[in-house]
Amino acid sequence: MSRFFIELAERWQRRWREAKVFEPEPSPGTPKFFITAAYPYPNGAIHIGHGRTYLIADILARFNRHMGKVSLFPMGFHYTGTPILTIAEVIAAGDKTVMEEYMEIYGVPEEEIRKMGDPLYLARYFHQQSKRAMERFGLGIDWTREFTTIDPEYQRFIQWQFEKLRKRGLVVRGRHPVGWCPRHSMPVGAHDTKDDKEPDIGQWTLIYFADGEGLTFPTATLRPETAPGVTNLWINPDADYVVAELNGRRMVVSRDAAFRLSFQGEVKVLREARGREFVGRWVQNPVTGEWVEIYEARFVDPKVGTGVVMSVPAHAPYDYAALRDMGLERLIPLIKVEGYGEYPAKEVVERMGVKSQTDPALEEATKEVYSAEYARGVMREDVAERVGQHLPEPAKSMLRAVFRMFFAGRPVKEARDFIARWLVESGLGGVMYDVMNKPVYCRCGTEIVVKVLEDQWFINYGDPRWKEAARRLIEEMSMVPSDAKAHFLATVDWLDKRACARTRGLGTPLPWSQDWVVESLSDSTIYMAFYAVIKKIRQFSIKPEQLTEEFWDYVFLGQGSPEEAARRTGVPPEVLRAVREEFDYWYPLDSRNSGKDLIPNHLTFFIFNHVAIFPREKWPRQIVANGWVLREGEKMSKSKRNVLPLDRAVEMYGPDPLRATLAIAAEVEQDLDFRDAEARRNAQQLMAIYALVQRIAQTAEDRAPSWLDLWLASEVAQILERVKEAYQRVRVRQAAVDVLYNAKSAFDQYLSMVERPSKLAVEAAKAWVIAMEPIAPHLAEELWAVLGGGGFAASAPWPSLKADPAALLAKRYVDMLIEDVKKIPAFGPGTRKVAVYVNRRFEWAKAALSGDVRAAIQAGAPPQAAKRLVDLLKSLGEEVRSLVASVEKFDELEALTSYKPYLEKMLGASVELYDAEDASAPDLGGKKKAALPLKPGIYLSS
Ligand SMILES: [Zn+2]
Repeated sequence: MSRFFIELAERWQRRWREAKVFEPEPSPGTPKFFITAAYPYPNGAIHIGHGRTYLIADILARFNRHMGKVSLFPMGFHYTGTPILTIAEVIAAGDKTVMEEYMEIYGVPEEEIRKMGDPLYLARYFHQQSKRAMERFGLGIDWTREFTTIDPEYQRFIQWQFEKLRKRGLVVRGRHPVGWCPRHSMPVGAHDTKDDKEPDIGQWTLIYFADGEGLTFPTATLRPETAPGVTNLWINPDADYVVAELNGRRMVVSRDAAFRLSFQGEVKVLREARGREFVGRWVQNPVTGEWVEIYEARFVDPKVGTGVVMSVPAHAPYDYAALRDMGLERLIPLIKVEGYGEYPAKEVVERMGVKSQTDPALEEATKEVYSAEYARGVMREDVAERVGQHLPEPAKSMLRAVFRMFFAGRPVKEARDFIARWLVESGLGGVMYDVMNKPVYCRCGTEIVVKVLEDQWFINYGDPRWKEAARRLIEEMSMVPSDAKAHFLATVDWLDKRACARTRGLGTPLPWSQDWVVESLSDSTIYMAFYAVIKKIRQFSIKPEQLTEEFWDYVFLGQGSPEEAARRTGVPPEVLRAVREEFDYWYPLDSRNSGKDLIPNHLTFFIFNHVAIFPREKWPRQIVANGWVLREGEKMSKSKRNVLPLDRAVEMYGPDPLRATLAIAAEVEQDLDFRDAEARRNAQQLMAIYALVQRIAQTAEDRAPSWLDLWLASEVAQILERVKEAYQRVRVRQAAVDVLYNAKSAFDQYLSMVERPSKLAVEAAKAWVIAMEPIAPHLAEELWAVLGGGGFAASAPWPSLKADPAALLAKRYVDMLIEDVKKIPAFGPGTRKVAVYVNRRFEWAKAALSGDVRAAIQAGAPPQAAKRLVDLLKSLGEEVRSLVASVEKFDELEALTSYKPYLEKMLGASVELYDAEDASAPDLGGKKKAALPLKPGIYLSS
C-alpha cells in the first residue's frame, strides 16, 4: 500500500514544484504567515523525531495558506561546529561502532563512509539526504531560500550580528568556568554532548582543614554555613588520593579531584596515596579552631568535590547515620527550623526508621533536611561563640562580632553567602567548580570537566537589563504549550555568561579575532531573518563583500538612507530598498517550532538575541515546542539501532500515512509513541477516504437537497469549524482526529442513508478535502482533482460551508425517535409496523425552553402538555437545546418524511407518519394525544 501513496505523492510533488506553489512572494496588503523550524545539523540523516517537528510547522503553514495568508516555510542546514566535526573525527579515526551505525541505520554505502572523515563531505552528504527526505515527506518548503551556515553571505550576516552584540556590551572576554572536553581541549555545551545534556556547572566551597604538619585537607561543601558544627572529616580509605601542590599549599585530594582541579588552576602532584593513610589524623577547623579526627567512610565518592568531606551530624542525615553506626554520636546544633527540634538530621533519620549509613532512605532524608533548612532555616544566636576559639584577643572578639552581625541569627541563605565569601577572602578556603549533573560526556566519549577560561569570548546572558527585556518578550509571546513560559523564565534566571566561540570546526570567524569560530548555539539565534532576505540577495547578485554593516543596518534596522548605504556598498539604492521591503514584509516571525529539548538553550538564545538586535515590532510572536518521538515505546538511539530515518519511514508507510500518524498519535506537547500498527491503521483509513470520495464523485446526482443532504453538509461544516479552531490553537492531534476520523464517519453514515449522494455532498467533500490538506496533502490534491476542484487544494481558501441548524436538529430528532422506539418493551424482531404521531407545534417547544410552564401555555400548549414539555426540554442535551433555540421554523413531519427510508432501515419495520392533529388519521392506541413537539406518539403493531 505504501507504493500507492508514494506514487501519488511523487506526482503531486512534481506539480507543486512546477507551479512554484511553495515559493511565495510578498504581497503588500495581504497578511502573511512566516514559520520556521530549527534547521538540522547534517551529521546524520534526519529521523521521524525531526519529521514530527517539521510536520507541525508544515501543517501550520498550509493551514494559514487556506486562511488567505501568504505563507512561508523555509529551511536551511547547520554546518557549524562540533556536532559535525566530532562525528567526522571519529570516522576519520576508524571507529568501527560509529561506522557500522551509520551504514546500518542511515544506509550509507561503505565507499561513502570512508570519505566522511572530511567534515564538509559528511555535512554535504547528509544535507542532500535529509533534503530529499523532507521533499518526499511532502513538506511545503520554499527551497529558493535554502542556505548553509558556511555560505559566505551567512557568514557576513553572523559577523554583523556579533559586531552589534559587542557594541552593545553583550560580548565580553574574560575568566569564566565552562564545560570542557579534556580530549578536544574545547568548551562544550548541550549540542556537543551525548544525549544533548547541558552540563550544569556548580560551585563548591572549599574549607582548608590543616593537620599542623604541613598538609591541608580541603573539604568541598555546598553548605559552608555548617562549618562551625563539624565533628570530624570523612575520607574513603579504598580510594586513590594524592598529595599535590595547589594554591600555594600541600593539599590532600582524591586523584580524580586533582585531575579536575588541574583545569581550574596550577596542580602539581607530589605523590600518590591510598585514603586509609590519612585516617586517624587530627586536623584543625579553620572556622572554630577545634581539632577533629579524620574517619574512614566508603560513602565518600572520590569523583565528587575533593573526596574530602566534612561531617555535620546535627544537620546532615548521612553523617548522623554513619556516626551512629560507629557509636560516636556527637551533635552540635547550628540552625533553627520551624517544625523541627535542635537536631533535624537525627530527628528525620529516626522518623524514617533509617537503619544504617547504607540505607537508601538517607537520600530522601537528606533532601528533606537540606531543603527545609535552606528555605526556612535561621542560624542560632549562639553560633558566633563557636567561632575563633583558637584566636588570641582581640582577634577572637573582633571575629565573633563580625559573625554576630552577618551570620548568627541570619537566614541560612544569607549566612551561606557571607561565610563562603569570608573563607575565600581570609584565605581559609577556596572555590572549586564541578559538573553537578555528572557524568556528562562529550560526543567523542570523554567525560567533561569544568575549566576556568582566562581569555574566552562570552555572550553575557547574565546582563540584568538584557534578562529584563527577554522576560518581557516571553510574557508577550504566545507559547504552545503555555506552561513552557515558566520553563523559559527559569532558564532566563540561571543563564549567565556563555562561551560563544571555539578554535575549531566549520562556521564563521569572529570579525575582530579570526582565530575564533562562532559556535553552533551562538550562530543560530536570529537566522530566521536571513531567510527573509537571501532570495533577493541572490536575485540581485549582491556579492558577499558588499554585505557590510551599512547593508545590514539598513535592511534589518532601517538605519541610514539607501543612498548612503549604496555609496558604501556599491549596491544600488533601489535594490537596497527592495531587500528592505522583503524583510519588512516577512518579519517578525509568526511561529518558531522545535523539539522541547531546545527550550533551555537554542529557543532561549533566540529570544535573547531578538530583543538585543531588533526593535520591538520585529520580535517573534510564537514558539511551539513539541514532545519527543518514541518508537514502539522505546527511546530511539543509535546504540539500540532503532532510530527510524525519515526517508526510510516514508518508504515504509508512504508520506501521507506517516504524516497522519505523526499528527494523530499524540497532542503537540506530549511525547509521541510511534507504532507500526498504528501507522498501518492510518494508511487503511486514508485508503478508505480515497475510495469514499471516489464513490461520491462518481455517483453524485443533481437534485434539490433533501434533509439528509443538508444534514451532511451541516455536520461536516460543524466538524470543520472545530478543525479550524484546533489548527488555530495548534491542537494538531485534535484536528487530525476530527478531519480523518469523525468527518469520515459522517460521510459513511450519510452514504448508508441515501440511495445516491447529491451535488451538495460533493461540495461537502470538497470542503473536507481542504481541511485534511494540511495533514494529508497529496491525497487531498488527488481527491480535489477527482471532485473537480480546479487549481491546487493547497492554494484553495478555507471552505465556507455553513451549518444549517434546522438540518442538524432534524437528524438529532430522528435519532432520538429511533432511540425512543427501541426503548419500548414491546419493540422487537416481530414489530412489523411503527405508527408515528407528530405534534407540529414547534413554537411550544421553543417557549418551553425557558423552563417556564406559563411561557409554554402562553404559546398555546394545553397546561398538561406544557408541564411535560418543560420537563422534556430539560432532559435534552446541551447541543439539541441550543439547536432548538437557534431554529425558527421546524416541521417535524416534513423531516421525518424525508428520513422515512432511514427510519425503516434502522427499525426493521415499515413506518407510518401521521399529523397528530389530522382528524382523518386513525388514532391507534390513543397515541394522538400523547404526541408532544420533539416527542412523537408511537404505536407498534406486529
Ligand atoms: Zn571531546
